[in-house]
Amino acid sequence: MRDLLGGKGANVAEMTRILGPERVPAGFTITTEACVAYMAAGGEEPSGLEEEIAEALARLEELSGKRLGDPEDPLLVSVRSGARESMPGMLDTVLNLGLNDRSVRGLAGRTSTERFAWDSYRRFVQMFANVVRGVPGARFEREIAEIKNARGVRSDTELDVGALRELTGRFTRLFGEETGEDFPQEPREQLRQAVRAVFDSWLGERAVAYRRINRIPDEWGTAVNVQQMVFGNKGESSGSGVAFSRDELTGAPGPSGDFLPNAQGEDVVSGVRNTRDISELAGAMPEAHRELMKILKTLERHYGDMQDVEFTVEDGRLYMLQTRNAKRPAQAAVRFAVDAVAEKLLSREQALLTIDAGGLEALLHRTFDPGLAYAPLTRGVGASPGAAKGFIVFTAAEAIVAEERRREARRGIRRTDHEALARFDAENPGVVLVRPFTEADDVGGFHAARGILTSEGGKASHAALVARGMGRPCVCGASELEIDLEARVVRCGGEELAAGELIAIDGSSGDVTRDDVALVEPRITPEFEAVLSWSDELRTLGVRANADTPRDAQRARDFGAEGIGLCRTEHMFLAADRQPKMRAMILAEADEDRRAALAALLPLQREDFEGLFAAMEERPVTIRLLDPPLHEFLPARLEVQHEVERARVEQSDDLAELERLLERVSALEETNPMLGTRGCRLGILQPEIYEMQVSAIAQAVRAVRERTGEPPLVEIMIPLVDYEQELDIMRALVVRVAGAEGLEEGEDYTVGTMIELPRACCVADRIAHHADFFSFGTNDLTQTALGFSRDDVEGKFLAAYLERKIVGRSPFETIDEPGVGQLLRMGAWLGRKTKPNLKLGICGEHGGDPESIEFFQHSGLNYVSCSPFRVPVARVAAAQSAVRAAGSAL
Ligand code: ADP
Ligand code: MG
Ligand code: MG
Repeated sequence: MRDLLGGKGANVAEMTRILGPERVPAGFTITTEACVAYMAAGGEEPSGLEEEIAEALARLEELSGKRLGDPEDPLLVSVRSGARESMPGMLDTVLNLGLNDRSVRGLAGRTSTERFAWDSYRRFVQMFANVVRGVPGARFEREIAEIKNARGVRSDTELDVGALRELTGRFTRLFGEETGEDFPQEPREQLRQAVRAVFDSWLGERAVAYRRINRIPDEWGTAVNVQQMVFGNKGESSGSGVAFSRDELTGAPGPSGDFLPNAQGEDVVSGVRNTRDISELAGAMPEAHRELMKILKTLERHYGDMQDVEFTVEDGRLYMLQTRNAKRPAQAAVRFAVDAVAEKLLSREQALLTIDAGGLEALLHRTFDPGLAYAPLTRGVGASPGAAKGFIVFTAAEAIVAEERRREARRGIRRTDHEALARFDAENPGVVLVRPFTEADDVGGFHAARGILTSEGGKASHAALVARGMGRPCVCGASELEIDLEARVVRCGGEELAAGELIAIDGSSGDVTRDDVALVEPRITPEFEAVLSWSDELRTLGVRANADTPRDAQRARDFGAEGIGLCRTEHMFLAADRQPKMRAMILAEADEDRRAALAALLPLQREDFEGLFAAMEERPVTIRLLDPPLHEFLPARLEVQHEVERARVEQSDDLAELERLLERVSALEETNPMLGTRGCRLGILQPEIYEMQVSAIAQAVRAVRERTGEPPLVEIMIPLVDYEQELDIMRALVVRVAGAEGLEEGEDYTVGTMIELPRACCVADRIAHHADFFSFGTNDLTQTALGFSRDDVEGKFLAAYLERKIVGRSPFETIDEPGVGQLLRMGAWLGRKTKPNLKLGICGEHGGDPESIEFFQHSGLNYVSCSPFRVPVARVAAAQSAVRAAGSAL
């Protein structure tokens, strides 16, 4: 009943049902509908609310045997906000509501611990003033600091009754000064104000902004939970804490968590005192510990998921105050799924669905090369797995600027020039954000940084939580580091590192080093392997990889790819030994010269293909014939022009050659090359290149067949088809050339096309007559359907579109379902209308995105193809889609 009771209220009610009323303090929930009515009435309590609250309160009083405001034995409650989903900006919880100058004495008398009563009262005044009436928290902290100073004590817990009584007096005076009112003594008035404040917080600036950004309707409203207090601050056999049903970091069986003896509510998370590990609860409060362990199991079984709970122990007796499905990093999610199946807690299908497939990429993070030694600078807490290396920055803003600059520079490199890109990446590793601790404002910097390093906080610190959420490596609490933000240096054991110097962190071990350690690719753990193998059994979509080199192909296989869905052949022309040959081919005037240049390229291409086929063995390999326009293989016109001018001045020998180059470059120059002579258009105008490529493929097929006896499964793919006639012509070319090499169509290879233009989707039925398969090229399809040039869009306005919520995510990251997705579906449907068994795949970047994969599952595709690193993510996402599809069909 989350919608009506809010997440917190629904779970408290459900826990009461499962664990029994003696384990969960009694209370009642004011529904989200009341909040909506309050809003509709322009910020007035709706009629009937007061009466209903009074009624519920009466029941609670009867149940507890105490009365609100009773000077002898008062009922005290907490007031907790809770919407359908937890969100920032909502009112913080108010504890101990119901206390006043008289009932505090009753409380003291009853429990014979005067100190406890006054501690509760001063907390209440402080919280009520701060949370409900907005008196700045710093004012109270100053009073506390002053009184501790005056009494010569260091910790809050050392303040005696007299001190606490004085403090309460100071707080109520402060309340008066700040609000111009006396502190409300009447408990029902306290409650009325607190409830209104919760409703009002729903309309607060932060909450409204958050809802606008996340498109959450205002009409959801928030619920208000009023719950009888239990007291963790009654002495050493009381306390409060948080716990996870399994290790929050690794998912290993055995709960993890923290507790504080003699503490109330927020003390544990606020970090005012050093918490103790949950295992120590066994010694301090054995009965409560035993009970808690049992309850964690019960809750897991009930919710079918790992739980994250809040509890309080009062005089040795355990009370549960909250439970929810635990947020967890990828490794814990995988571990939980595997263990849950082994323990028969969940079926494989259910277990798979508890995993956030997209987050699994964190497990495919790089690590320090285990074979290499490095000099550790220090060690902190490994708070988010994966290794990262980069230049030190000290603020989120610097991280963002540095990353923007790096990307800008990288965009200057040709996308197809793999060598230059690799060199650039090695020299520009990005940045590591180094801070004492992080806050909400720093989150933008997490996106931009490769990793996060802090000197304070632990596994549950802000930095750790956010980094894990984003899959960024993080080391926290490296307390030996002295991070001097003023001087912009980090000091550690006599060493000093300035902004811009290299640092490397290992978010698993917590190691920090200034060595330029090599980062190596990840290995898949046995648990992850198990999840992947279930996925392979359950999924119906095939998963292939986009790979251009034998090395990528091998990696793709290691990650479980069932074939290559896209091999781009352009890089084969760009390697240092090939570019001059390619250039000679493009510049050739006589036909002979051109053929000679192509003949020199052919053996090199053949070798490339042999390597790919060998790596993939019997698995299918889709090879796309050359796509980019020819000018990409020549130097930029301006550059050549300068060279020509220089040669003229110097009267050098190469002038004639340079002039010819300039002429060719100018002739090939296009205003908009992306929409120019690319793909099959090039194949039609300059068939020699495609002929050479097909010969090279055919010869490689023969060579591998002769060597291994196993014929490779080759799919030759024609790019950028608009008209069925284009494919008809190209297919004839392939069949003719491959035939001359002794290969038979349909037997030794198939011919298909990339569907990447809107027109091709519209006439897919006609195109299908000439195609054995379609592979949707969703990168170009997105560019051409939206009229977005990817590089320009991502560099210039996508950020603004995301911020204004015109798009939720980049259409290059996740498929634009209503536009591009519908084109794809039309293409798939029309293609199958002509050929019911037409093989359909997708090879854009969307092939590795879980949301898009779900869409492709429902579009009837046979397989997705993505970058090798996304293959494991795609395998799990495809299985989840299949499980959900089967479930919804029931
Ligand atoms: P949040 O969403 O910020 O965790 P909660 O309402 O869960 O807010 O509560 C804040 C703290 O107060 C938690 O530690 C919780 O356990 C404690 N708390 C809430 N209600 C009670 C109660 N009735 N008795 C004792 N502690 C409570
Ligand atoms: Mg809170
Ligand atoms: Mg809570």
